[in-house]
Amino acid sequence: MASNSLSAFLQDNLTELKQQGLYNTIQPLESPNGPIITIQGREFVNLSSNNYLGLANDERLKEAAIQATTDFGTGSGAVRSINGTLALHIELEEKLAQFKGTEAVLTYQSGFNCNMAAISAVMGAGDAILSDELNHASIIDGCRLTKAKVIRFNHSDMEDLRSKAKEARESGLYSKIMVITDGVFSMDGDIAKLPEIVEIAESYDLITYVDDAHGSGVLGGGAGTVKHFGLSDRVDFQIGTLSKAVGVVGGYVAGSRDLVDWLKVRSRPFLFSTALPPGSIAACITAIDILQNSKELQMKLWENTRYLQEGLKNLGYSVGRTETPITPCIIGDEATTQKFSTRLYEEGVYAKAIVFPTVPKGTGRVRNMPTAIHTQEMLDRALSAYETIGRELGLI
Ligand SMILES: *Cc1c(COP(=O)(O)O)cnc(C)c1O
Repeated sequence: MASNSLSAFLQDNLTELKQQGLYNTIQPLESPNGPIITIQGREFVNLSSNNYLGLANDERLKEAAIQATTDFGTGSGAVRSINGTLALHIELEEKLAQFKGTEAVLTYQSGFNCNMAAISAVMGAGDAILSDELNHASIIDGCRLTKAKVIRFNHSDMEDLRSKAKEARESGLYSKIMVITDGVFSMDGDIAKLPEIVEIAESYDLITYVDDAHGSGVLGGGAGTVKHFGLSDRVDFQIGTLSKAVGVVGGYVAGSRDLVDWLKVRSRPFLFSTALPPGSIAACITAIDILQNSKELQMKLWENTRYLQEGLKNLGYSVGRTETPITPCIIGDEATTQKFSTRLYEEGVYAKAIVFPTVPKGTGRVRNMPTAIHTQEMLDRALSAYETIGRELGLI
């Protein structure tokens, strides 16, 4: 039986969230997470996944996963540092390092785990971390695992970063100072100003750390935001995920050989959590091969992105400051945004409302994620729903 204090805590907080309309009810899919999904027997145009290139349902990845499972089993059997490291892990890491243009790569069980692992492996008491205020939750948690001083700077505000970097360096209080940013910001789709960040970092001897979960497979010919700006040899840490565009699960840190050697002996999710399973690794290897050998899926992704974003703008909507496939459609106040998203659902379009406190008050939006495997007809269905609902609610 649950303790009384726990039951009271849970009931009070759940009731409050539900009253405020902030309790998220999760709807399970009855189909693959493709461009069309099935929920409760109904079909929807899916504009909510991170399956940018459609690789999560690609036949070639499925076959690779099945073959590796047949050959090596379902689990890797141990943590990487005992005997859970399979030759497949090394093959994937070497392939990723070559793809990213870095000396070495280390894989983890998720992108989230990379941030749990890498920040605290190098930063500690007497250090400082300059962190963009819109950084992903896993970066915030990763920073909390260190005893370093965390200094937030205004979102992509390079004057603010420069003055805080100068102040931190000139204070003489810190030995190591890191600047940490998302490569692509997941709510607005804007790209970090990496050329300026790197320049500021070089002026004040900052360690550079870019979490490129939404840039991997999407920008820089698939190699990410750092490659997109031609900065591969000027960024110390590049974090990537294998769970979004790559279509499987897992994450990796790309950097120098010394950095990877250090992470192997000091990063806790590597040392104390079981390695990725064979089927997933083999599917990732196939995905990276596809990314390296063909630009077709990426071209299709960007073509669909332009089509959806132009379509929304032509209807009279704003897509905010996006520079990537992440397509916020700005609606406005919280209640209207929720209403909009409910109406989209009724019209057979699955796209999530994002409101305060995830984004500032009054900037509620519906976030749309086009992928390479949407057809124009599917995107037209979504746009037509946007038109109907926008007129109904007097927004366009
Ligand atoms: C999605 C995301 C993650 C988490 O990646 P997973 O592989 O899903 O754990 C980490 N950082 C950023 C910036 C993300 O957008």
